[in-house]
Amino acid sequence: MSGRVSAAAYEALIQFLYQAPIGLVQTTLDGGVEMINPTSAQLLMPLASDGSLDNLFDVLDGVAPTLRGLAQAAQHEGEVICDALRFTSPGVLGEVAKTLSISMVRLDGARLMAVLDDITEQLRQEQKTLDRRLRDAALIDALTQMPNRAALSSTIADVLQREREAGSQFAVLFLNCDRFKLVNDLFGTAVGDGLLGVLAARLLGVLRAGESMAARVGGDEFVVLLGSLASSDEALAISQRVIDVLGGPCVVAGHALTCSVSGGLLLGDGAEGDADAMMRDASIAMVEAKRQGGGRFIAFEPAMRERAVQRARTESELRLALAEGQLFVVYQPIVALQSPAADRSCAGVEALVRWRHPQRGVVPPIEFIGVAEECGLIGALGDFVLATAVRQQQRWREELGALAPGWTAVNLSRAQLQEPGFVASVQALLARSGLPPPCLHLEVTESMAAQDEVVQAVLQQLKALGVALALDDFGTGYSSLASLHQFPVDVVKIDRSFTSQVDTSAHHRVLVQATVMVARSLGMSTVVEGVETEAQAELVRQFGCDRGQGYLFSRPLEAHALTTWLQPTATAACTGRTF
Ligand code: C2E
Ligand code: CA
Ligand code: CA
Repeated sequence: MSGRVSAAAYEALIQFLYQAPIGLVQTTLDGGVEMINPTSAQLLMPLASDGSLDNLFDVLDGVAPTLRGLAQAAQHEGEVICDALRFTSPGVLGEVAKTLSISMVRLDGARLMAVLDDITEQLRQEQKTLDRRLRDAALIDALTQMPNRAALSSTIADVLQREREAGSQFAVLFLNCDRFKLVNDLFGTAVGDGLLGVLAARLLGVLRAGESMAARVGGDEFVVLLGSLASSDEALAISQRVIDVLGGPCVVAGHALTCSVSGGLLLGDGAEGDADAMMRDASIAMVEAKRQGGGRFIAFEPAMRERAVQRARTESELRLALAEGQLFVVYQPIVALQSPAADRSCAGVEALVRWRHPQRGVVPPIEFIGVAEECGLIGALGDFVLATAVRQQQRWREELGALAPGWTAVNLSRAQLQEPGFVASVQALLARSGLPPPCLHLEVTESMAAQDEVVQAVLQQLKALGVALALDDFGTGYSSLASLHQFPVDVVKIDRSFTSQVDTSAHHRVLVQATVMVARSLGMSTVVEGVETEAQAELVRQFGCDRGQGYLFSRPLEAHALTTWLQPTATAACTGRTF
């Protein structure tokens, strides 16, 4: 100590060092303890296996084995040996283990100085902050800043308990964009993300704060939890408002978009199971809403669950069917009506898909086309039908000459028209088979062709290939005769629901007549579907329909049976199995 420090000041300094809440130790170069304050002694004692604190390195060897070497390596005065090196000290007498840190410097040629600190509490706080951050990240959707599925699950569980105790109502609304994938595919994921942001903002805007919670639970899926409802009618009204507001047009990065939204509503009093089960039931109702055309919401009913299970089963079986060649195509003749009744020659055929199911026998398309559309198998299914039909039509042309059907019509689904490269694949198929394009008719429905610029453009490209287009099921869609001119089609197929009533209902008769006239004025020909009786055939012939299709002429037939049917001498009896 310097001579200028008084004895009292020196004593004060010693007291200060002794009482410091931080551990201080001075040692020789090989760790021999020269000075140690009580805090250090307290911190180090649990580590001193023989109860001795004579040598710091001996005490710390078990928990900080690198320290001795680090100290030896430090050669210069003031050199830092370690800075806040962490180690664990076992708890004594039931205490929890502590985390300590040691910082050490070489004071001079003979001494080392160490500072010891108990950082257990500091670490606990750090861990807490980290946990909170992780938890927040796991509960918040980064894109929309909305709660995510995990956050929603736990909230539903809480709300469920609260509302049941309070006897009030709640509901879960599951939302999904109808054609989000298309937006992503056409404009890129940045625009897709922008659209999701718009939807999220709209959703938050339309809901009353405090009584509901909106979460993003998947790519283009949102769930709204509606709480404190006065009645189930209120849930229905809010759901309708949500569907209307979200489905409105918007502009994202300069693109004018309209993406309708479908919803499934699970009312709290019909809810079963835990939060995940509720979300699943609401999503089942949402799928039902999509099946009904989208842009709407549907309230969950338990029977939907069984149908969903059935659909899932069909889906997996259908995958197998495609892989194992259980699908096949049948052909229904379309006959010329304006020739004499005895000479209803085959103008063309319509290709219709069938599924030879190992247990269920031959399954009609109505039972699996919808499932194929929903689960993305329709592309592969459609490609199969198209390729099979084109090959078959060309084979008939080669084998039967003048007796061959003039064309084969193939049904398209919306997914096929939206497939990138679809037009090129049709072109390649025609080139490969050698079939002239006009010998292929492609059938689309009004709902597919209307109001969709992408589909319209694809139809124009198909037309440009020379393929003929037919408007299927005409009269069942939402558009009317007045908009027929908007469709770039060559043939109008009048739906069976008109044919079946043409001889009993004046209204239907007039509609068929009007359709024939409008179509003719637009240069389109007409096919009447579902002709089952001579009376119907005769009436529609008088109305000027060009062609007819129906059980009266023939049921759909397998290719070889149709070949027989086409022979001039054929009778119904020799056609073999019908479908
Ligand atoms: P669609 O395109 O309207 O096909 C005509 C349907 O009417 C066929 O039913 C046919 O068997 C049936 N039909 C024909 N004449 C009569 C009749 O006189 N009376 C009655 N009651 N029905 C008649 P199918 O083969 O069961 O097909 C049902 C629907 O499934 C088709 O309706 C079409 O929308 C769809 N479909 C069939 N094959 C395919 C396909 O390969 N791809 C796609 N995307 N859809 C297909
Ligand atoms: Ca059709
Ligand atoms: Ca049809």
